[in-house]
Amino acid sequence: MTAPTPALLKGATGDWELIIGLEVHAQVTSNSKLFSGASTEFGAEPNTQVSLIDAGFPGMLPVINGFVVEQAVRTGLGLNAQINLRSVFDRKNYFYPDLPAGYQISQYKQPIVGEGIVTVDLPDGSVREVGIERLHLEQDAGKSLHDQHPKLTYVDLNRAGVALMEIVSKPDLRSGEEAGAYVKKLRAILRYLGTCDGNMEQGSLRCDVNVSVRKPGAALGTRCEIKNVNSVRFLQQAVDFESRRQIEELEAGRAIKQETRLYDANTGETRTMRSKEEAHDYRYFPDPDLLPLELTPDYVARIKATLPELPDAKRARLESDLAIAPYQARVLVMEKESADYFEAFVAAVQKRTGKAPQDIGQDCANVVVTELFGALNKDSKSIESSPISPTALAGLQALKMDGTVSGPTAKKVFEEMYATGKDASAIVEEKGLKQVSDSGALEAMVDKVIADNPKQVEQYRGGKETVITFFVGQLMKLSRGTANPAMVTELLKKKLAK
Ligand code: MN
Repeated sequence: MTAPTPALLKGATGDWELIIGLEVHAQVTSNSKLFSGASTEFGAEPNTQVSLIDAGFPGMLPVINGFVVEQAVRTGLGLNAQINLRSVFDRKNYFYPDLPAGYQISQYKQPIVGEGIVTVDLPDGSVREVGIERLHLEQDAGKSLHDQHPKLTYVDLNRAGVALMEIVSKPDLRSGEEAGAYVKKLRAILRYLGTCDGNMEQGSLRCDVNVSVRKPGAALGTRCEIKNVNSVRFLQQAVDFESRRQIEELEAGRAIKQETRLYDANTGETRTMRSKEEAHDYRYFPDPDLLPLELTPDYVARIKATLPELPDAKRARLESDLAIAPYQARVLVMEKESADYFEAFVAAVQKRTGKAPQDIGQDCANVVVTELFGALNKDSKSIESSPISPTALAGLQALKMDGTVSGPTAKKVFEEMYATGKDASAIVEEKGLKQVSDSGALEAMVDKVIADNPKQVEQYRGGKETVITFFVGQLMKLSRGTANPAMVTELLKKKLAK
């Protein structure tokens, strides 16, 4: 399903269309920096992971990190993008205390990756294709620390020189919700690829958001850029605030000034950071210390051959091979860890029961999405810290499938497993929860329930057949949930018919 045209924004003078493009800075997963061997580990003591080149010492020469190049190519391929076999590193010149060299090494006119496409899943189940303009490699800057001393600012250069991929989208997004869905999908793809950990709190993924508004069909309006938004929720809030602000300005007869703005999460507002008059002239020029980066088609093909299955392909496979409904398939592939858990679970169930994947897929998906994700969400736990392993959960699923426990009992056992980390069969044994399928034992219980409820027996025999659910309920209560519901219903019908 292709996305319907999103709702236009209502203003006093009529409808407005919202135009959004995103620049995402994603930190490349790599042990060392883009042009030095210094470590990239998060959380180290300030200035303990700085080589001479990161500190901008004169005469130091940058040496390209081959693994980072591979990661950028891998990402480009994952974004269905053009890989440029020749790209060039440029110096982007500006002065800032956390940039000791006085320039950032980036890529300007010839980036390593060109145009691509990301398929974005919208909350209503539809999809929208968002164009990628480019992806280029560049260095991160250091960090100014303003909260360490009352009068001084400190500089931490641990981040200086860390490799970033700047991923620029086309202005294809039309609402804050779409922008949020795009970032989620991009993050998922990067995490599947293993090229960025996607940790927004630690700053591994940051968004600059370009927002403008226009009357439907009109030329593009003047845009404002909101810098360094570091959560999907803030992104949506920033877009909502900024679009309303621009509409109000325009409807009051004022022009939008092209400027860079900051989003303040405390007030939910954006405010001016710098206007275009203060914009930098970066004086880009090719870095004379670095040769153009030349790749061969062979090299790209070798990386392509190692790409993992990505979320869209995995989702399609879950739907076709495991007969899983679209909604659950989509939830399962959102995070690589969830998908890995689910696939390990299905494999374990298959091993224990010998059943075909398409016969067990949907029920397994229900258990993971509803029960497990439900419990984990309630505790704000991630799938990696699930108290139940895929194999342990398969143990319970097998007991349910072979009729050892009933569906309702399986839910109770699940809760107990989640709380205690115990094995399913141990819990069933300990608490006497084995489903009673022995017809002699069941018959005795059925007789008792019939004898205890003469009024309902009369109603049933008088033609009110829905009363059967009352009897089943009584029986489940009597058996503390261990009676086999199918057998019970059958026995009841037989006995009540007499
Ligand atoms: Mn950048």
